Amino acid sequence: MANSRPTKCLVIGAGPVGALAALYAARRGWDVEVYELRGDLRDESTTPLNFTKSINLALSERGINAMRQSGSNGLLETVLSETVPMYGRMIHGKASAQLTEESQQYDVHGRFLRAVDRAILNKVLLDEVEALSNVKLHFNQKLTGADVRKRKAWFEQQASRKPQTADGAQIHQAQDESRSEEIEVDFDVILGCDGAHSSVRYHMMMSVRMNFEQNYIDTLWCEFTIPPVTSTSHRTPSARDGFATSPNHLHIWPQSDKMFIAIPSTDKSFTCTFFAPAADFTSLEKYPDGFLPFFQANFPGVADLVGHAELRKQFHDNPHLPLISIKCAPHHYGSAGVILGDAAHAMVPFYGQGMNAGLEDVRVLFEHLDAQPSNTQGRAKALEAYTAERVPDAHTINDLALANYWEMHAGVTSPLYLFRKKVEEFLADKLPVTGFATQYSRVSFSNQRYSEVAKTVDRQGKILIGGMLGTVLLPAVGWAAWWAWRHRQTTHSTSYAAKGFASLTRVWERVIRMYS
Ligand code: FAD
Repeated sequence: MANSRPTKCLVIGAGPVGALAALYAARRGWDVEVYELRGDLRDESTTPLNFTKSINLALSERGINAMRQSGSNGLLETVLSETVPMYGRMIHGKASAQLTEESQQYDVHGRFLRAVDRAILNKVLLDEVEALSNVKLHFNQKLTGADVRKRKAWFEQQASRKPQTADGAQIHQAQDESRSEEIEVDFDVILGCDGAHSSVRYHMMMSVRMNFEQNYIDTLWCEFTIPPVTSTSHRTPSARDGFATSPNHLHIWPQSDKMFIAIPSTDKSFTCTFFAPAADFTSLEKYPDGFLPFFQANFPGVADLVGHAELRKQFHDNPHLPLISIKCAPHHYGSAGVILGDAAHAMVPFYGQGMNAGLEDVRVLFEHLDAQPSNTQGRAKALEAYTAERVPDAHTINDLALANYWEMHAGVTSPLYLFRKKVEEFLADKLPVTGFATQYSRVSFSNQRYSEVAKTVDRQGKILIGGMLGTVLLPAVGWAAWWAWRHRQTTHSTSYAAKGFASLTRVWERVIRMYS
């Protein structure tokens, strides 16, 4: 039997995932309240958590599809109008003292990623949510406690916050300068979209036997900006339209254990990220004289593009942040609580899937909810089915994201990696009947479940290896058998070699009989 009053839903966190979740919930007629720790992102003075201003993200099919299915006309078009297409990677290097650029297309069918400013995307989603009468947005409200058994949550109003620390791991411990009374709010269901250090997850764990694993990798990141070109500024050969290097690529300066990447913005600048082991950061901080030579040796051209003084200043001013990877299960409690996005599966950013996967969570969750009656029992079944589907997928993309670090900083120049990519692309393009596609295009340009992607790519790899071995080995075995046969005919030799070849002949004859 359907409930007579609308489902009361609390969404914790108004980041991209929370904003989209609120939109989906509101479109189903739920009574939605969104609580966000920080101020309204649309207010210029609010700095997004963890970032100096905002970061550019690669938006791909899963994120796009989740917005497409939101039921909001025009939402996707508005978001896409704020993006810059990236058709491939541009690999920067140096050969014989010359700067080099090599373009690697992402997809043989021409599909592409879209660079988007996280804050702009978030603002568009919040505007859409705010326009709905059954949604209330509460900013500067920190979730301090939640009891999913009693369906109650507690919040503290945040008046102002201390500046963020340079260590991302401590950001959530920054104490507020002034606090008001705690308020208590009831709910039917709470959606925890409150990021990697999720408070909802923490409190849900008190009621759920949740397995939880958190790892920091030995890599820090720091943000830089390449400004739009002026008459005097440096640019690479692919620069155009006021961008200092090609606007339609994700730029990578790869090194064995570090890399520098640049993603275009609509204002013709690039948001860049420097990833390196913590030891590199320490030595760059300790030995300022080595700073410029380090960048010039490892990332040729970067210092000129950013500007020498700016490079130093931005390294000094911008936070040096850690990268966290989180896996947990289950993602829900009964009919009362569920965690989505980074709260459930924060991942390292090397597949450009963190936000895309989080937005996809929302679509998948509401597909399960739509498939069940809209009452407590139906919701409990839906949340259980959601965990069953989403946990293996979240774990898979978490692992793929870690593995892709190798691909981005080393694989992009590895002949074996490039060979497999070429073969798979050739088959995808010329022999579509084989169903071959690269792992990258399955992850970025399809909605195939991540766990299925991993299985399919594994199968594909075995077929390719089998095919390649077959191509090399079968002719070799054939030739050896033929040679042995000839040898036996001419010499009637009884040497071991001849006997060996004679056995091969028999094997080969059997193989031919089997397939003829
Ligand atoms: P968040 O964006 O973390 O939002 C959580 C919200 O919850 C915040 O607004 C926070 O203030 C609020 N909150 C926290 N605690 C509380 C509380 N107690 N009470 C109330 N509110 C609270 N992803 C991609 O898809 N593509 C990319 O190219 C990409 N690049 C990345 C590059 C870098 C360097 C990094 C670090 C990440 C990248 N990501 C990328 C990942 C992406 O940024 C995240 O996956 C995404 O922002 C997660 O969104 P979210 O809404 O789940 O969490």
